[in-house]
Amino acid sequence: MRFRRRDLLRIGRDLRRASRGLRFRLTATYAALFVVLVVGAVWLARAQLSASLQTQATDSLDEDWTALKGSILRIERDPDSGAYEAYWYYDKDDPDETTVVLDIKKVLLITDSSGKAIQDHETQEPAESTIYQDLPQDRPAEIQARVRQWVSASKPGQAGKPFWMEKRDSSGELFLIRAAVIWDEHRHAPYYVALGTSLAKNEVILRRYSFMLFVGVLPGATLLGWLVGWLVAGRALTPVRDVAQAAQRITGSNLGLRIPSRNAGDELDYLILTFNRMIERLEASFRQMKQFSADVSHELRTPITAIRGQLEVALMTAGSTEQYREAMFNALQDIDRLSQIVRALLLLSQAESGQLALQRSRVDLGLVLEDLAEQFQIPAEGAGVRLAAHCQPGCFVDADRVQIERMITNLLSNALKFTPEGGEVRLSAQPLEGSVELVVEDTGRGIPAEHLPHIFDRFYRVPGSGTAPAPDQGLGLGLSFVAWIAKAHHGVIDVESTPGKGTRFTITLPAAGAAALPAEVSVSQ
Ligand code: ADP
Repeated sequence: MRFRRRDLLRIGRDLRRASRGLRFRLTATYAALFVVLVVGAVWLARAQLSASLQTQATDSLDEDWTALKGSILRIERDPDSGAYEAYWYYDKDDPDETTVVLDIKKVLLITDSSGKAIQDHETQEPAESTIYQDLPQDRPAEIQARVRQWVSASKPGQAGKPFWMEKRDSSGELFLIRAAVIWDEHRHAPYYVALGTSLAKNEVILRRYSFMLFVGVLPGATLLGWLVGWLVAGRALTPVRDVAQAAQRITGSNLGLRIPSRNAGDELDYLILTFNRMIERLEASFRQMKQFSADVSHELRTPITAIRGQLEVALMTAGSTEQYREAMFNALQDIDRLSQIVRALLLLSQAESGQLALQRSRVDLGLVLEDLAEQFQIPAEGAGVRLAAHCQPGCFVDADRVQIERMITNLLSNALKFTPEGGEVRLSAQPLEGSVELVVEDTGRGIPAEHLPHIFDRFYRVPGSGTAPAPDQGLGLGLSFVAWIAKAHHGVIDVESTPGKGTRFTITLPAAGAAALPAEVSVSQ
């Protein structure tokens, strides 16, 4: 199989993508930690082993030294030549003693205080073993210094500190050397004795250990760490994948779906809960949007159907100019209603999307109420309803006068519309602590309890005697405006109504310069 450049690039891209994945990164972190821990532990064990091998070698040299100094070796003057020589005292017929002496003699150097090897009485050769000759030499000056140090440091009957050295022979074999100074039999002259042992076995053991560490433990730990990490990360991420799959199944058409909670009480459950709540909110606004578009199309269809019907009837049946005029007059009325709806909707959507900026100024609500009461006096009288305004001075708010007037006008025209002849509509305003309270109340037909929570919804009209809207019936948008204007001014609306007795709308707005009130709409009976 031949790899082309494109294939290699693709593989590179896939690997890069995989390495960015959470599972890969978790696994890599876990594996790295695991390897560091395992290798660290094995390395510590190696250091321990190395230390104990070293102690063994040191102990064995110490033992040899004690034997050597205690009984086996004496530096004595040769009776014939008068020169100092090394004498060995042991039973030559005892194989054990012979082995010990031979062992000691393997790596050995005995010199006088000037650093010159003295004669071995037994072999009549210089007391320097072949192995020692092959080691880097202790220079005479060094030996002299050590002897001087020893003599000055050691008090009679007290031993000085031994010197420890490590040396390699020409073939690379490592030796541990213990050197010290001993006196001749009669304490005439100090002698330098260096005794050694091979560390080759220790080195082999440690080298094998390191080999095992790098060839066995390191790759093994990496593989095991990666495998366990991959499995653990996979297990930990399974719920995340489930959540993602469940989330993918949720679309605009099945917003009722929820991600099932795992009841583990962990962070993931919290995420699922948050996600489900978000879907709930989305579902609510989807429902509202659907309802709104259904309402809008219904509202627009009704006058359009009416216009069409009137025009068709006129076309087919009208004979006189008078009849045509009447049909056109009715059609125009419906067209008016249509454009009212469109205008109101446009304004509402501008308001709700924040495009309608408030032009705030200091407004005395009492004065506004009194002005409006005056304006509505004539229609009120026409409907046979008494209209009165009672305003206290100092009802100042920081508000958009045009919007505030629109809000009160909507409430006032509703009150007049739903109050029968002989009834009463009262307007009042009074300053409270940090706020101003505005009341529009009437003695009209009231609103049944089941409808109260919906009256601020768009197109919501409390069903009256008939279902089809009469030409003078409102659009069901007035209170939506009232709610928006109150909210935009950080106000609170409260409605109380008793069917057959009347309705009371109370709007509390922050007084000029005071902090905002918590925005809410409350209804009560
Ligand atoms: P409309 O433009 O139809 O008046 P609104 O949003 O202003 O729409 O009001 C919604 C509904 O609330 C009205 O259709 C009416 O049934 C009811 N309503 C509002 N104000 C009053 C009131 N003062 N008395 C009785 N019913 C009211």
